[in-house]
Amino acid sequence: MNSPNILNLHRERALQALGEEPLDVLVVGGGIVGAGVLYAAVRAGLRAGLVEQYDFAFGTSSRSSRLLHGGLRYLAQGRVGLVFEASQEKLRLAKVAPHLVEPMPFIFPSYRGSHWPLWQLWIGVKVYDALCLGKNFGASRRVNLRELAELAPGLREDGCRGAVRYFDALTNDSRLVLDTLRAAVARGGFAYNYVGLKQAEWRGKAWVCHLVDTLSDRHFACESRWIVNACGPWASLFPQSKVQLRLTKGIHLVIPRERLPIREAVVMSEGKRILFAIPWGERVILGTTDTDYAGSLEDIPIDEADIEYVLGVTNWFFPKAGISRADIRAGWAGLRPLVAKGRGGPSDISRAHVIRVVGPGWVDVAGGKLTTYLLMGEQVVRKILRRMDRREHRPNPCEPFLAEGESVPRLGVLPPEPTPELVKYFCEREWACRLEDVMIRRTSWHYYRDDLAQLSQEVAQWMAELLGWDEAKKKEEIARYQTVCNKTCVRL
Ligand SMILES: Cc1cc2nc3c(=O)[nH]c(=O)nc-3n(C[C@H](O)[C@H](O)[C@H](O)COP(=O)(O)OP(=O)(O)OC[C@H]3O[C@@H](n4cnc5c(N)ncnc54)[C@H](O)[C@@H]3O)c2cc1C
Repeated sequence: MNSPNILNLHRERALQALGEEPLDVLVVGGGIVGAGVLYAAVRAGLRAGLVEQYDFAFGTSSRSSRLLHGGLRYLAQGRVGLVFEASQEKLRLAKVAPHLVEPMPFIFPSYRGSHWPLWQLWIGVKVYDALCLGKNFGASRRVNLRELAELAPGLREDGCRGAVRYFDALTNDSRLVLDTLRAAVARGGFAYNYVGLKQAEWRGKAWVCHLVDTLSDRHFACESRWIVNACGPWASLFPQSKVQLRLTKGIHLVIPRERLPIREAVVMSEGKRILFAIPWGERVILGTTDTDYAGSLEDIPIDEADIEYVLGVTNWFFPKAGISRADIRAGWAGLRPLVAKGRGGPSDISRAHVIRVVGPGWVDVAGGKLTTYLLMGEQVVRKILRRMDRREHRPNPCEPFLAEGESVPRLGVLPPEPTPELVKYFCEREWACRLEDVMIRRTSWHYYRDDLAQLSQEVAQWMAELLGWDEAKKKEEIARYQTVCNKTCVRL
């Protein structure tokens, strides 16, 4: 194990370095969008840094459905351009981060009188494949009732007309953020978690950025020619920002796979909306909801009504399963930072992203999806380069994050087995500072494992040795983690 405090010293030194030389770009927000912007900025040769007020992927980017998808649902809304763009990005990610893209077949059953007639689904999935220009992870096809019973045992038979089967991919959202940041830092970028931008002052040629280390409450400053506001649900809080958001909440529940032994993901329609049952190793992820939200951005509750809704839809589709509250092992709630435009129900709001240069040296980027983050990052950087009068050079869009043979763990879609070495790696190379950083965003153990009471104690002990925590600090970390458990349907 490392000698105590050495990692804190590294952090101190790294933070000092941020103030030493002005940056070209400071990205604010360490979710998937900020990570994509940092990666693109560094690859364009800019001196770029990123600050995240909590842990990387603390916000929406660790609370998604974990799908890389073109968005079959958006086809029904006629948003063909959006689906084409996302489909291409989904395929690109399979080259850039293959360990985080697990192609997954989806079964979409159709019922008598439903909003999704079989003929329409059939046309839909064929167009969906066409928008992948023939390169989707597999060809879509029809599924008859007999096969349906094998692929999705227990699925409601009454009124079922058959199904279609199409391909998207499962990812690990917070690992995608971390690997993108790691790739950006390996190419010369700077990334700091637990550092927030408090305010920024424009001084004619550059911003003076007032930052706070939220672990030590130490305040410091750095200069940057550009600021990119990639703050997701927080994006409208800066006085410089022109973003207007409509936040909608979505929750997910995790249940044991044996309670819903589906072989492939199942699409469960509810009126115009669709929910998913997604197999995830020994678990199934159920979700999601889509309701307007105006509460705390930090503490997003999983309400009884949310749980009832998701279980209600699931039990309609799997009437014999009888999934109840007692089956829930964990859950998460996230906010979609949708760009407010027009009216309509939450599910009608466009998922398209918006990039705006507002005032000197300030860019707002908002909306979009996990799937399209690399593209969003590139478009932001292109706008900045144009205004800096710099020539744009286009690096290989499909360059893998990790070079062949690079000896770092390739953590994938499923949680890894816990070991002290892995935890050491997270602390030394992946910026883990708190117990919850490891339990939730580095590994997803929190959402997956049954032995969390014991595991969290062990991990806390390993981290204490690495980070020089005394007994009081260790207890504080465990208590903090237990609070998160209470809010995410996890019983220790
Ligand atoms: C329920 C749900 C399911 C979804 N499912 C999918 C899906 O399956 N596939 C898909 O492609 N997309 C999906 N999405 C959309 C996708 O998850 C989001 O579009 C994306 O994660 C948004 O990322 P972001 O970086 O904009 O925001 P965030 O991830 O929230 O990141 C913003 C970050 O900015 C930080 N920040 C804020 N203020 C400051 C400050 N002053 N200083 C420093 N840092 C600051 C925050 O702490 C936060 O971490 C889903 C969204 C939801 C809610």
